[in-house]
Amino acid sequence: MAALHEILRVQKLGKNHGGYHGETIDIRAVLRDIKTAAQSHGWTSELFYKTGDLELFALHRRTEAGSQNPESRIYISTGIHGDEPAGPLAALKLIQENRWPANAEIFLLPCLNPDGFVLNTRGNADGIDLNRDYRHLESNEITAHVRWLERQPKFDLTLCLHEDWESHGFYVYELNPDGHAPLGEKLVAAVARVCPIDLSPVIEGREASGGVIRPSLDPATRPQWPETFWLLQNKTRQSCTLEAPSDFPLAVRVDALVTAVNAALESWQR
Ligand SMILES: [Zn+2]
Repeated sequence: MAALHEILRVQKLGKNHGGYHGETIDIRAVLRDIKTAAQSHGWTSELFYKTGDLELFALHRRTEAGSQNPESRIYISTGIHGDEPAGPLAALKLIQENRWPANAEIFLLPCLNPDGFVLNTRGNADGIDLNRDYRHLESNEITAHVRWLERQPKFDLTLCLHEDWESHGFYVYELNPDGHAPLGEKLVAAVARVCPIDLSPVIEGREASGGVIRPSLDPATRPQWPETFWLLQNKTRQSCTLEAPSDFPLAVRVDALVTAVNAALESWQR
């Protein structure tokens, strides 16, 4: 059977030249909806930084039995790049759909760069790319985020939701240095039903295969750290960065991210 995106003939919009020029979101309204939905489904919310009237907050969902010993602890974050609107919208949809594994504890950070969304810029209000700031902590947002992270338990899996305005389809970066059961191909197979996959042999200058990049690297040797490097060094041994292609319609990208997160969660229900 043909994949859904082939049936729907989802095609690149050709809008993005030199940056993201697609739809934007009202981040205040999206964060308000996220808080309302989270509250109605029993999540707790912790504010860890404020920039003007905009809040950086972490949502926490216990296991259904309220167990102190969950089968897994899963961390999901997004909204670190202000020109990637599908991430916060995917967070909202995941909370509204409320399809979480019963025995998993979920930590969800729906927007790490609210100022960037107001400005529709990758960086924060000072132009800092927050996803390069986890080694030197020059921004207030990431300093506060790391202080929050330091108070959390270890995570079995971390998922960071992004978009790439240059890509030809969805792809995944997987960091898995201890050789746990790989996730990348499973996520790509699930997402292929709703969104094209980037099958390029090289993506972002890195060797890729079937929409999955597995960089072999040692964060300790790198001068700048994205969020995943900090997580790998301090909190997890398996991390997937999900990249939706931002030259496709926003609804397709949101679906791609939601589908990938659900596929990752399902593979942990074992
Ligand atoms: Zn990004």
